[in-house]
Amino acid sequence: MLILGMLGATSVVLTLIVSYYLAKSDISQGALKNAETLSDQIAYSLEILASQGDIFAMQRVTEKTSTLEGVSRIIIVDNHQIIKAHSEKRMVGQKDESPLFAEAIHERRIVNQVSEMRIIFVRPLRGQAYTSEYQDVIGALWVEIDISNSVRQTRNSFLWVAVIGGVTSLMAFGTQYIILKKNVVDRIFDIERGIKNALRGELGTAIVINTSFGSEDEINALAQSYNYLSATLKDSQTKLQSERDFALHIMENMGEGLTIANAEGNFEYVNPAYARFLQRSPDEIIGHLPEDFTNHEDRAKLTEGWNLRMKGKSSSYETSLIAKDGSFVTVIVTAVPRFNNGKFAGNIAVVTNVSERARFEQMKTDFVNRASHELRTPLTTAILMADLLEGGGTDEEREEFITILKQELNRQLILLNDLLVAGRIESRKYEVHASRIDIPPVINEAVAAIKLQAESRQIQLVTDLDKSLPLVNTDRQSLFQILLNLLSNGIKYSRINSEVMIKAKMEGQFVRVAVLDKGIGIPAQDLPHITTRFFRAQNATKREVQGTGIGLYIVKEILDALGGHMEIASAENQGTTVSIYLPTK
Ligand code: ADP
Repeated sequence: MLILGMLGATSVVLTLIVSYYLAKSDISQGALKNAETLSDQIAYSLEILASQGDIFAMQRVTEKTSTLEGVSRIIIVDNHQIIKAHSEKRMVGQKDESPLFAEAIHERRIVNQVSEMRIIFVRPLRGQAYTSEYQDVIGALWVEIDISNSVRQTRNSFLWVAVIGGVTSLMAFGTQYIILKKNVVDRIFDIERGIKNALRGELGTAIVINTSFGSEDEINALAQSYNYLSATLKDSQTKLQSERDFALHIMENMGEGLTIANAEGNFEYVNPAYARFLQRSPDEIIGHLPEDFTNHEDRAKLTEGWNLRMKGKSSSYETSLIAKDGSFVTVIVTAVPRFNNGKFAGNIAVVTNVSERARFEQMKTDFVNRASHELRTPLTTAILMADLLEGGGTDEEREEFITILKQELNRQLILLNDLLVAGRIESRKYEVHASRIDIPPVINEAVAAIKLQAESRQIQLVTDLDKSLPLVNTDRQSLFQILLNLLSNGIKYSRINSEVMIKAKMEGQFVRVAVLDKGIGIPAQDLPHITTRFFRAQNATKREVQGTGIGLYIVKEILDALGGHMEIASAENQGTTVSIYLPTK
């Protein structure tokens, strides 16, 4: 824009300069022509006067002619360049050494000299006959015209023209600049600003552009296209972002591990689940190789899988990871290759922690074994007792056989009931039938039912029941089964010849029934898992206390169905208190 303006101004100045010089040369040419005509006229008269030898007349003509406009000096010399007449009379008689005179006389031709300020026109004067060595040349005439005025005037005019031209072009340029700036440059800047904003990521902000002279033009069209493009881009960006956020949300919250590795095998991303398997934070894992967290013995599997993926195949294998505390985590890795422009770029793997599943499978197997054992043991004893009864014996002996028989059958009944309830819970067919129940009679009944088992271990069952317990809206049979389980555990896990207490009292909105023993207790690390199906604490299995690991599980499930809950407080080797809370409302 500025360059354009400067070019315009320069061309104006150049035009003026050229015109000025052309005008100046025109002035010179005109003045030269005038001088020639004038000298022609004077020369004719002078030649006549000279032939008559009228020197005074020559001086008069000279002086007269010198007064003509523009004529600044007239000189007449003879062949020896002695001044015969001069605009300034006092010069007459002196010698004029000007080479112009010499040239005109000797060369017998017109000579002129044009300068900035004046024009000198010198011509030879001719006599009547060839009287001298200069043939008919008798002297020379010098006509000098002053052109300084004309030149000055022209210069002044051009100066005015230049000033007016300059001011006009400046104004024109200024107006043009303002119009151009407002209508083109500023509007294009607006678009440029918009594009810069877009590049900074601020998409979707529409550029508002004035209309030029009240109507839309190409720049508005450009702005509209930009706005459309920006809005579309913003749309797709938002869509992309929300899809990415959605994907990230899934990846961050899924229970399975997810890892992304680059072409060199280093982790680029691991989700929190995977990091949890290793008991580390994702930052501690990213940048490392899977080998760094894998059991050494399984490294061959990793290499094999990696080689397959480099060939574009997915692979799946079981391996064990090493957690921060050194423990092994069994996982199944399913990995697919990633390609970027046809080039192998690493892989994405879903890692499933099967340790829990494997442990559960093991627990289930143990349960089947234990349950069969628990069912068979009382049966075997019962058959033995029946045989003994058949064989007779004293009344006392027979009574003892019957007690043992009852006790064993009772054990079997409790177990079979538990299995039945567990089956119903699993298949979601367990139902409770609530009615207003007085709790103490149910407790006493359960104590009576378990009495033989307690006696076999010389354990005293002590009850401590609040007199003013309200009726509770519950399922009698279910409550009975819960109590049998808790009392049975209290007896099983107590030392021989100790005491198990059952208490009942109001606590807020609940009736709390607690079974307390001073037995082996539950190790702290096993306590959180104690109500998990088939789970048995280490100290119970170690001591070979018989059990199946479903008692507390069904107690918890039944309580959920009854709207109650359970609390277990236990310290290893000190005892356990299992409390159930039954809602009164
Ligand atoms: P089990 O048939 O093995 O007794 P439960 O589900 O009733 O199964 O109990 C689960 C585990 O909880 C038991 O195996 C035992 O390790 C622990 N447990 C339950 N009650 C007691 C208790 N009163 N004292 C100590 N350990 C207990």
